[in-house]
Amino acid sequence: EAKSAGRDTARFFSPETDQRVLARQSMETQLRQALANEEFSLHYQPRLNARTRKVQGAEALLRWKNPLLGQVPPGEFIHVAEESGLIKPIGAWVLREACRNWMAMEEQGICKGLELSVNLSVAQLADPELVDQLSAVLRDTRMPPAQLELELTESHLMDNPVAAQQQVAALKALGVKVAIDDFGTGYSSLAYLKRFDIDKLKVDQSFVLGMLEDSADAAIVHAVIALGHTLGLKVVAEGVENLPTAQTLTALGCDELQGYCFSRPIPLAEWVSYLRSHALREDRRRPPIAG
Ligand code: C2E
Ligand code: MG
Ligand code: MG
Ligand code: MG
Repeated sequence: EAKSAGRDTARFFSPETDQRVLARQSMETQLRQALANEEFSLHYQPRLNARTRKVQGAEALLRWKNPLLGQVPPGEFIHVAEESGLIKPIGAWVLREACRNWMAMEEQGICKGLELSVNLSVAQLADPELVDQLSAVLRDTRMPPAQLELELTESHLMDNPVAAQQQVAALKALGVKVAIDDFGTGYSSLAYLKRFDIDKLKVDQSFVLGMLEDSADAAIVHAVIALGHTLGLKVVAEGVENLPTAQTLTALGCDELQGYCFSRPIPLAEWVSYLRSHALREDRRRPPIAG
């Protein structure tokens, strides 16, 4: 009986659905072992001051290389990690690993005072243990809280704005900064936006990528910069792929720039050499000492 019921249910699924369910299950199975097998790594993408073009900090971006599935982009596995609850241990690893990398660089004197941005998922934001977890990471790694910025997406904050507001306040009490990621793609209530104790808006790359060709995109970017500044927030543009876009954003008063124009997300070792050569360029740019 159970068998025939199973067969009946199975009939509702097309072969393509079966394929997708299988792929999703296999990804979840692989993801379950990924931490223990050390398949994750972090890449870093610089964020520059728009006016001075000095490196201000970097965003840590998760990378997953699995022996069976190969290199899987975050756009494909983050939601699987969220739906399966695996994002909690994975997100905790990201936070600790990124802070550890940062302080190891500081000890070598490489990037004193640079800010580190880390993405948090909605499951992490909703986790009552997040604040304790973060304060333990800050203590253990000696990461200065003022140098750590947490990126929360607009839709995650607006999912449950009252709870999110409290969690943001508790995180801010530890001394870290909070940015709203992918701004403009969710449905922000301006009333809530005003109440959140945040530091920064990140204009979503979908508006930035084509802003030189599409006047509606340009208008949205302009409006987000104005809104951010009115609320006393810094505004960052992500997805800055070329210099004309960087120049336009700078002219519009955008505070920070991030995108392929300056660097793709790169592994830690490359990031260290990027910083070294960037510091060298800065030195050469300085006027020679008279005398
Ligand atoms: P995000 O936080 O908005 O990160 C920016 C994404 O834009 C990154 O994609 C980055 O590689 C890409 N990007 C940067 N500059 C450019 C550019 O000039 N042009 C274009 N076309 N793209 C650019 P990535 O690394 O594939 O990450 C995708 C998303 O996955 C992230 O979007 C974030 O939402 C999520 N994610 C990545 N790492 C983590 C993590 O550690 N934890 C969580 N919860 N989510 C993460
Ligand atoms: Mg981000
Ligand atoms: Mg974003
Ligand atoms: Mg995004």
